[in-house]
Amino acid sequence: MIRKFRFSATHTEPAAPSAGDVTLRARELTVLRDKRPILDGVELEVVAGEVLALVGPNGAGKSTLLAALAGDLPAHTGRVELDGLPLADWSTSEMSRRRAVLPQQHRLGFGFTVHEVVQMGRAPWARTDRGRDDERAVAEAMKICDIEGFTQRSFATLSGGEQARVALARVLAQDTPTIMLDEPTAALDLHHQETVMQIAAERAASGVGVVVVLHDLGLAAAYADKIAVLSGGRIATYGRPDEVLTAELLTDVYRHPVEVLQHPETGRQLILPLRPGSIF
Ligand code: ADP
Ligand code: MG
Repeated sequence: MIRKFRFSATHTEPAAPSAGDVTLRARELTVLRDKRPILDGVELEVVAGEVLALVGPNGAGKSTLLAALAGDLPAHTGRVELDGLPLADWSTSEMSRRRAVLPQQHRLGFGFTVHEVVQMGRAPWARTDRGRDDERAVAEAMKICDIEGFTQRSFATLSGGEQARVALARVLAQDTPTIMLDEPTAALDLHHQETVMQIAAERAASGVGVVVVLHDLGLAAAYADKIAVLSGGRIATYGRPDEVLTAELLTDVYRHPVEVLQHPETGRQLILPLRPGSIF
């Protein structure tokens, strides 16, 4: 593939990705925590224009993988590339103009108003031409995350689901070619779960590479272009939802009997954990 380069003061920075480009790539990635291997030989691609869902049981290594892709945890062996360059070749500020990360726990924001938290997403663009988009990006992110009703409230006083939507708005305001979301729907009601996944799909449709950790396999079936199932620190399988979400695989990976049905109109998979007879 031919890459366009533009010159910055210190080195060449790859041009922003176009739809179809791989924005993040893990190559033979092994990550240790407390000297224990948590990820083992992971190969993964995030593609501009697509939603990649990372699913798998608790402790499978999903958050560890997201943190390693974000450069927050070091590779023990193998490597991560962002827009074609190893993470080590990017400065922190360049990286934060290329990818935005929603961690599983939101530690940011206490002591700040909602508006201030969302504005933090614009910090990487200070003193660049894109700084003039700050107000528009913040307002748009607050609107699509449905948090305009409480912009002056203190972040700490919000409910868990409200905080989650504010944290997502911060990530969207950052306006990067890749977004990485760790369980963005975990604390949300049904309506907001759907809207968050619609936002993810819309961002992807506009050319963004989206990687999102999900527990709800129905959401993954409905909104993901690709799914990677992580189990015991390895990618158990990867592909389109219709290829990946089979009763055999899910029953095996989750150690729980699962039935996969098809929606009569859309053909999308409906995932049903089997329950004792009296519970249905
Ligand atoms: P997931 O997000 O898939 O639920 P994690 O990536 O958070 O899983 O965790 C994967 C494994 O790494 C688990 O066994 C977990 O206990 C372990 N782990 C997570 N964080 C740490 C840490 N800070 N120190 C040591 N082990 C950790
Ligand atoms: Mg996790």
